[in-house]
Amino acid sequence: MTNWQELDKKYYMQTIVRVPVTLVRGEGARVWDDRGKEYLDFVCGLAVNCLGHCHPVVVNALTEQAQTLMQTSLWYYTTPMLRLAELLVQNSCLDRVFICNSGLEANEGAIKLARRYGALKLNGAYEVITTNNSFHGRSLALTAASGQVKMHEPFEPLPVGFINVANNDIEAVKSATTDKTCAIMLELIQAETGVNLPDNDYPKKVREWCDQKGILLILDEVQTGIGRLGTLFGYQTYGVEPDIMSLAKGLGSGIPIGAFLAKENASVFTIGDHNATFGGNPVTSATSYAALKYVIENDIPGNARRVGQYLVDSLNKLREKYQFVTEVRGRGLLVAMEFDSDIGQEVLMACLEKGLLVNRVKPNAVRFVPPLIIDNRDVDEAMEILDKALSTFDN
Ligand SMILES: *Cc1c(COP(=O)(O)O)cnc(C)c1O
Repeated sequence: MTNWQELDKKYYMQTIVRVPVTLVRGEGARVWDDRGKEYLDFVCGLAVNCLGHCHPVVVNALTEQAQTLMQTSLWYYTTPMLRLAELLVQNSCLDRVFICNSGLEANEGAIKLARRYGALKLNGAYEVITTNNSFHGRSLALTAASGQVKMHEPFEPLPVGFINVANNDIEAVKSATTDKTCAIMLELIQAETGVNLPDNDYPKKVREWCDQKGILLILDEVQTGIGRLGTLFGYQTYGVEPDIMSLAKGLGSGIPIGAFLAKENASVFTIGDHNATFGGNPVTSATSYAALKYVIENDIPGNARRVGQYLVDSLNKLREKYQFVTEVRGRGLLVAMEFDSDIGQEVLMACLEKGLLVNRVKPNAVRFVPPLIIDNRDVDEAMEILDKALSTFDN
């Protein structure tokens, strides 16, 4: 049998410490490794496969479009991307869409759009305020936008125009705002750095400040969008409307796609301002359209809200049982469990051994981002495994 971990060491750039398992197949909320072992998957492609692995609606749309038309460039009209754009606009508070291929591309587009807005409507304002511990992507500009020193240092000098301020602190946003500011960019919940919840009224206060100053609110909904928080978009959970919003992870339920959307007023790109060779690709757009339509028509966000509450309640029972569990937090099916010491990786490994995939989101925390189609029985099964895993640590 091929030793895939040896091949990885030999041929692949070593930028992350992979979980020592080779996955070969997936169905619903389950995956199998190359030895045939089954796992319940509470990582789901890193909060991507919202309908689980290989959902027939997704697979059928993908294969049908792959047999019809694959790639044309944006120099031609194609139907899948226009259907997807219409569906996104009809179900959100935004008016126009640009479809791209990933979260970072969506955020880059969102920032370029905000800079054009600043140039045209705010006397050349170009600075974007973001928050400490945010994660927005790994291009050079988004490395600067992400408020994490450890991301910045290896790649300095970074592009200018990004100001990182304290998270969840409206006064910090206010004092960083100058006549150079064109936008404030937020993750509603900081997902990659620990599932850090804001105070419930923080996004609203930022919205009000943006209105007062005439600057744009960009919501990075790459992870919170498409049902993850229990509403189709995260902004509905927090009762604010963005001027610009980026989407990616859950948008295609497993295929690589991203999009940024804007209100008409903020939609200031003109001919020549933006393009992408693979943008609006027929295969990814048709697949995403089918997935999103299914999410909407079957109230998948509602399921995420209900099962998410059950997951949080179940995790809290384990918190009461194990003193070293310090906190359970999340909205919908974006949930984390934190420990009083750095045992995140060991908990991950103990769960892996017993057949559950979880994600280490901080040295002392694991994250649960299961497919949005799971039910309470899946949660019960995961809790049984997690309980056994936690019982191997000193309480
Ligand atoms: C994952 C993520 C990104 C980056 O998306 P990529 O597709 O990996 O480029 C950006 N913002 C948030 C909030 C994310 O969770």
